[in-house]
Amino acid sequence: MSCDNCETALENLYLFLDEEIDHASIDEIQAHIDSCSSCLTAYDLERVVKALVSRSCAEKAPEPLRERVLYSIRTVQVQITENRGI
Ligand SMILES: [Zn+2]
Repeated sequence: MSCDNCETALENLYLFLDEEIDHASIDEIQAHIDSCSSCLTAYDLERVVKALVSRSCAEKAPEPLRERVLYSIRTVQVQITENRGI
């Protein structure tokens, strides 16, 4: 089953998390994320990173943790790309 909406959903994911898009688009993305495990994984990771980043404004996030999170994101992105390619 192909998932053409993934690209759009992931592109909008950043805007979604920053709440920079209108509510109709949010509903669309949310619906896709709910039905797509690849996007759900990416979405969860993004939320973790965002929480880390906002917290690190007050207290600096430890560098190893930050690197681990960035590594996790890259791994998920590779998995999503591979899934899409099949
Ligand atoms: Zn998807």
